[in-house]
Amino acid sequence: MGIVIRDCTLDDRVVTVTLSGGHIASIEAAAPDADGGAGAGPDRVIDGRGLHLLPALRNGHTHVAMALLRGYGDDLPLHTWLHDRIWPAEARLTGDHIHAGARLGILEMIRSGTVFFNEMYWHVDRIAEAARELGVRAHLGSAFFDMGDPERERLWRGNVERDVERRDELGDLVELVLAPHAIYTVSPHNLRWISELARAHGLRLHTHLSETEKEVRDCVDAHGLRPTAHLDAHGVLGPDLTVAHCVWMEPGEFEMLARHGTTVAHNPCANLKLCTGGFLDWRMAKAVGTRIVLGTDGVASNNSFDLFDELKFAALVHKHRADDATLLPAREAWSLVTSEPSRAFGLGAGTVEVGEPADLILVDLSGPETCPGHDLHSDLVYAANGSVVHTTICAGRVLMHDRTLEVADEAEILHGAREAARAIVSG
Ligand SMILES: [Zn+2]
Repeated sequence: MGIVIRDCTLDDRVVTVTLSGGHIASIEAAAPDADGGAGAGPDRVIDGRGLHLLPALRNGHTHVAMALLRGYGDDLPLHTWLHDRIWPAEARLTGDHIHAGARLGILEMIRSGTVFFNEMYWHVDRIAEAARELGVRAHLGSAFFDMGDPERERLWRGNVERDVERRDELGDLVELVLAPHAIYTVSPHNLRWISELARAHGLRLHTHLSETEKEVRDCVDAHGLRPTAHLDAHGVLGPDLTVAHCVWMEPGEFEMLARHGTTVAHNPCANLKLCTGGFLDWRMAKAVGTRIVLGTDGVASNNSFDLFDELKFAALVHKHRADDATLLPAREAWSLVTSEPSRAFGLGAGTVEVGEPADLILVDLSGPETCPGHDLHSDLVYAANGSVVHTTICAGRVLMHDRTLEVADEAEILHGAREAARAIVSG
């Protein structure tokens, strides 16, 4: 039983790898025995000749159903974009639309080698349904906003409590996360409430932090604290928390995050596109040991779930900002979508080793864009994009092979997404 990947390239060796029980069972230089080393004969043998075997990618911050709003209202000021385009369209979203949008987003992820996303949105049951159908892992954040309104607080607390009660129904590869949206949409007493609720149930937390200068200014005016200290004052910081953005930070704030073991999800493309005014300061964050992973944010502000694009932007912008070509070299950049998020989200080491989860991709680097192949990681970060992904495997299940989706009908997913997008923008 299991899957055998024969004669693929791992680093600079040709190996045969067996997958069993959702994990990597063996990695051998020579072809294994007829049973593939996986018991009573493999269920499937994949020809890996000419393909590189790598860990599958992990996306640290998404709003997956916003795939329906890709390209809808680009090139507008942030305020106009949100008020005139995104929020009116989101107000029309039903669970069915979110399901269709999630299927579209997950399809794009699988095609570009991503099998895990850390999500914040509504209708987590419908996003979980899409994740189950397409076979990917997800941490699904049940978003919470109260906007200082007791009626909203009652409504959203009810939603979150219902999600917590039903979390076991989400699926084997899906975990519920609690997601206070941001300090400017969640009252201090609810920051504490939701953090305590998460910890009482052993759930992770996910929020936005210091995305704009206005957020920082308003927080200091209202509470006399910068945003990170405000989260700390209300018990939100911890090793189970992911904070997205961290654009407007001071060194002491990164130190506070590092001390608590909190993970930062850095979203370079979304920050550049929405002109959030600053950019995460790599040296400042790394000087104190902050854990950083990459995310795409929603596709409405990116406009892609392809983490290969995100890698290139991250590496280039940090070099440019620091005027230092040695900053964030390719191998380190690659860790931001593999080993770092794997450890941060409790998904193994994010490496291709025996015993690790069988979350793997085979990439085809035979095309002109990655020729002649002097350095694998340089090619992955600076030259490749998601189209090099040939096969995507999650928990030992082949989701895509030879660039063909195996777990659902791709044309049907695209049709459903177009219909849902039409409904929400013409509403
Ligand atoms: Zn976001």
